[in-house]
Amino acid sequence: MPDLQAIIDEIHSTLRPRLGEGKVADYIPQLAKVDPHQFGISIATVDGEIFSAGDAATSFSIQSISKVFMLTLALGKIGEQVWARVGREPSGTAFNSIVQLEHEHGIPRNPFINAGAIAVSDIVLAGHQPREAIGEFLRFMRYLADDDTISIDDAVARSEGQTGYRNFALANFMRGFGNLHHPVEHVLGVYFHQCALAMSCSQLAKAGLFLANRGSQAHSGHTVVSPKRARRINALMLTCGHYDGSGDFAYHVGLPGKSGVGGGILAVAPGIGSIAVWSPGLNPVGTSAIGAQALEMLTAKTGWSVFEAG
Ligand code: GLN
Repeated sequence: MPDLQAIIDEIHSTLRPRLGEGKVADYIPQLAKVDPHQFGISIATVDGEIFSAGDAATSFSIQSISKVFMLTLALGKIGEQVWARVGREPSGTAFNSIVQLEHEHGIPRNPFINAGAIAVSDIVLAGHQPREAIGEFLRFMRYLADDDTISIDDAVARSEGQTGYRNFALANFMRGFGNLHHPVEHVLGVYFHQCALAMSCSQLAKAGLFLANRGSQAHSGHTVVSPKRARRINALMLTCGHYDGSGDFAYHVGLPGKSGVGGGILAVAPGIGSIAVWSPGLNPVGTSAIGAQALEMLTAKTGWSVFEAG
């Protein structure tokens, strides 16, 4: 194993002068208040080590990274039937795009664009009140990160509820096609709260580690999902994790990843570890500009890639 602490310290000092690049998400007013000059990175390895640099202990809004974990819950709940409700193809469109939905009869392209994630929230909601579904998600994240201090930022959830016009449009559209089974307000209540989960890089790297560890928790050995399911979630992250920027991320970073408009990215190096980076300034496709740069530097220095045997 290379000297990961030295590598991430070097990445941090190289990128420090560039902090503030990109544009903070301002369509969610609460996120517009975040100081863009922040950067954190953590690597959790399958051997149980954790390496961090910068603002790795600062909590941020995980936003769309939550979609990976909600998909995991939905697959646990109804298995392959998930794929009757959402597809598995890259969309080639923005995260909040509505254009394909009508053509494709209310079945979103994949579980990571907003429409797909809203359908996944509807699946997790089945048989529950919204409050219970949110509780299930929160407990799952605390269990994965082995940290009961993780919580939801209600101000962010509220802020998103007040300005989430496009998400209401997507959800109403899908409800019109019969692809949402619960009232739109309930489903979006779940969706906005999952997106508003606040986590630090070190917590997030730990939570995502099962995806790098054949589906099992590294610290306890507990099975979260089967190895096959972990591989498949990774495949979806690689092909769809950054919306219309997924090809570019695969080209430059070479690892499955999922971005969020809070500026976080979770990346998975199978058999090695999981990496969480955070810096709030976004590129035009809604991925952290400096975060993606940091991951590209990390994979260049370590040689980690899913396109080359280790
Ligand atoms: N909560 C955000 C939204 O629905 C999530 C988008 C994202 O992180 N790409 O718009």
